Amino acid sequence: MIPSILPTYNRAPMTFVSGDGSWLTEADGRRFLDLGAGIAVNALGHAHPALVAALTTQAQALWHTSNLYHIPAQQKLADALVAHTFADTVFFTNSGTEACELAVKMVRKYWYDKGQDRTEIITFSGSFHGRSAAGIAAAGSEKMTKGFGPLLPGFTHLEFGDHDALNAAVTDQTAAVLIEPVQGEGGIRPVPDQCLKGLRALCDQHGVLLILDEVQCGMGRTGKLFAHEWAGITPDIMMVAKGIGGGFPLGAVLATQNAASGMTAGTHGSTYGGNPLACAVGAKVMEIIADDAFLADVNRKAGHLRQKLEGLVAAFPDIFEKVRGSGLMLGLKCKVANTDVVQAGYQALVLTVPAADNVIRLLPPLTISEDEIDTAIARLGTAARQLRGDNA
Ligand SMILES: *Cc1c(COP(=O)(O)O)cnc(C)c1O
Repeated sequence: MIPSILPTYNRAPMTFVSGDGSWLTEADGRRFLDLGAGIAVNALGHAHPALVAALTTQAQALWHTSNLYHIPAQQKLADALVAHTFADTVFFTNSGTEACELAVKMVRKYWYDKGQDRTEIITFSGSFHGRSAAGIAAAGSEKMTKGFGPLLPGFTHLEFGDHDALNAAVTDQTAAVLIEPVQGEGGIRPVPDQCLKGLRALCDQHGVLLILDEVQCGMGRTGKLFAHEWAGITPDIMMVAKGIGGGFPLGAVLATQNAASGMTAGTHGSTYGGNPLACAVGAKVMEIIADDAFLADVNRKAGHLRQKLEGLVAAFPDIFEKVRGSGLMLGLKCKVANTDVVQAGYQALVLTVPAADNVIRLLPPLTISEDEIDTAIARLGTAARQLRGDNA
């Protein structure tokens, strides 16, 4: 008999009942160190007092009105995002997938209004843009699309890192290029700064819009507010979600005035997107993360974690191959099955997340302490010894 919850997930046999900073408590009392942060969602850890206060205060005042009316918390968050980024304007969604949907609509409408027949969006292997019809068509992998056709047309899929293919594919018929500055689900694969610069130049040369998917790598994750800042470029459109809500469902599409020019009244909408509860939390998350001292601290801790992980690879060359990634978005490429490493981590009370290319992802809360990082490394060492068959 089918379970009462549609069985699209293989769930680990753990039930967390409370959280505090970088820690999750299981129903049986065990305390797990959380290096997954709900897949880069709990950017400020669990039960951050300032977020609890922001949500509680808003919950006591007003939960929902409608985008038919002004929403002060939404205005505050939009103003903060515009002040700290390339963007001139923001639309709020409830998820990364919905941000993808709008990004696709926005570029199509942009070219339609210009009277140009440009509908093709270039994407890359290993990418992930959500599970909606547009999201799976954009990513294009067999794993996500098989059986769900006919797929939304208009996507050209290129091999990640194939510069020649990219140069050949971007033409005056291309509407946009969509890329994650650091692939998350794809196995923590950063696009080198030089390549992002080259991509921006290529887009400019052909008048093509550049959409960055920073759903996973944005909101301080790489040590800058947004990952593309490392390359010194800006997109025309950017998808954001995950960390921006700190655990409350919230996403956004940020855009320049030019890229957003087709999205006039009545062209898009959302019942819940930008609701008072999500935006009250999002505004507080933004206030905390978009702060130079906070980001400097993320970079310092990222250096510490990376160094310790390099040590782990050196100590367990039979289990781990290498470290890759940026900031507190790191991947350990494994020599044994990554899912076995994740399982062994559960035994050692440390949570990591598997990704493609046999990688485990380390996406801790940005608020993790150096002591907690050291504890995490010790526990990953315990997991590695268990996999090796040593008596830890
Ligand atoms: C998670 C993710 C999405 C989809 O976000 P949802 O909130 O799950 O819809 C899109 N793009 C990237 C890069 C992601 O990591």
